[in-house]
Amino acid sequence: MALPSTYADRNCSMARALEVVGERWTLMIVRDAFYGVRRFGDFATQLGIPRAVLTNRLKALVQEGVFSRDDDGAGNVEYRLTAKGVELWPIVRALMHWGDSFYSPAGVKRAVRHDLDGGLLDQEGRCEQCGHLVPVPESRIEPGPGFDAAADAETDPVSSVLNTPRRLLDPIPHGGKQS
Ligand SMILES: [Zn+2]
Repeated sequence: MALPSTYADRNCSMARALEVVGERWTLMIVRDAFYGVRRFGDFATQLGIPRAVLTNRLKALVQEGVFSRDDDGAGNVEYRLTAKGVELWPIVRALMHWGDSFYSPAGVKRAVRHDLDGGLLDQEGRCEQCGHLVPVPESRIEPGPGFDAAADAETDPVSSVLNTPRRLLDPIPHGGKQS
């Protein structure tokens, strides 16, 4: 659902962008997609989001070309970030960094590293080890010093996977068919 039209100044690209990603849950869904979540049930489990809201948000993201919706014909539907969607990474990353800076006194909740050499990435995505600008699929996310494992004690299988070091965009594994 679009925000009230008063929000959309036609000369403001930020207003236009917020119409796409500014609704509650939307950026969380996008973030989970970077973490490798692709299936409706996994988004629902991991985020604890009402299913009707999730349906609505996914539909809007597909409509805007942020996600593609891929149906394998056997009942498995996956939502994947498009090239346009992947370009949201610096925004997600910056929000995570801002949250860590002001609301996580124990340190970063999740560190982003160059998967190849383990170097930490700076705000521009440059590796402190090798100096390269690291593409999103070659970045690794892992729990940092501020990550509170106890807060995730009653964890579900999806969260467990997401809380281990892994490359961005790598799909979370599924043993069998799930939705
Ligand atoms: Zn590196």
